[in-house]
Amino acid sequence: MHALISPEDAVRLKRAGYVIVGGHSAVKVCHWTKLSITGKGFCYKQKFYGIPSHRCLQFTPALPFCNHRCLFCWRNTDITIPRWSGNVDEPNDLLEKAVQAQRKLLNGFPGNPETELKKWREAQNPCQAAVSLAGEPTLYPRLPDLLRELNKKGMTSFLVSNGINPSMLEKLADEKALPTQLYVSLCSYNKRIYSRVHRPLVKGGWERLSESLELLDSIKTRRTLRVTLVKGLNFEHPEEYAELIERSGVDYVEVKAYMHVGSSIRRLAEEVMPSHEEINAFATELAGECGYLVSDDHPVSRVVLLSKDKRAEKNRGIKR
Ligand code: SF4
Repeated sequence: MHALISPEDAVRLKRAGYVIVGGHSAVKVCHWTKLSITGKGFCYKQKFYGIPSHRCLQFTPALPFCNHRCLFCWRNTDITIPRWSGNVDEPNDLLEKAVQAQRKLLNGFPGNPETELKKWREAQNPCQAAVSLAGEPTLYPRLPDLLRELNKKGMTSFLVSNGINPSMLEKLADEKALPTQLYVSLCSYNKRIYSRVHRPLVKGGWERLSESLELLDSIKTRRTLRVTLVKGLNFEHPEEYAELIERSGVDYVEVKAYMHVGSSIRRLAEEVMPSHEEINAFATELAGECGYLVSDDHPVSRVVLLSKDKRAEKNRGIKR
């Protein structure tokens, strides 16, 4: 395990449902995976894009590494190393161990009378990977190899990045190792708000994010901006977000409420979590400003999907 993950942190992470695999990676069974296996619903990405929540592997190759300490992050941002250090896990080995860990974490489900056994059996072989969970995955030096491995295994991949490592996004494009869907978080509309929201640990973060937004316009895969909104912090000026969205040319925008969960409750009050109605109103105004279409929503997750145009809307379902 990475020297910078203390034994106390490891215990805290284990109690929160994480399994650390290799030196710096981790798996955690998503809340929606569990709900789906017991027939109680599925995540908004299944609704929007058709990925099967019960066969999703939620993991990170960069558990302690991030160059942001976002106020709304559900992660314990005290464990944050802004630059890579130490050994690098081998991608295929990391994936094998991640799938094994997921199977182990799902072991007890057959004993639950609500479990749909067919779904539980299918969940033994994840076909979708959410490379997000914690930390900034673009800091993992072997990310291109990891995404190629996922592709080789016939798995779809969602890569969620904070966008301040444009050189890795460029590398993924150059090396044809792009994920099925590339997410970049856009949670600020100018440099001042960027610093307040993300408390960056590196210089030039706003400029790097802007560079990534420009890059997105030429990247040949499904591209999504995730706009996480917190009242009293960044929940304003849809017209300014619209300019940045247009510059990026992305296919989809997810306008999402901050959720009062995890370690974020130590930093933000519950009242700053927008309601779904407030998110809906903001998303509709934003769509009007940037010419996108309001395509779908998921009230439980307080999220609204915007599509660039009719073509993007029609093609939002991921074909396996
Ligand atoms: S896509 Fe995200 S929310 Fe949906 S099941 Fe996977 S990790 Fe959970």
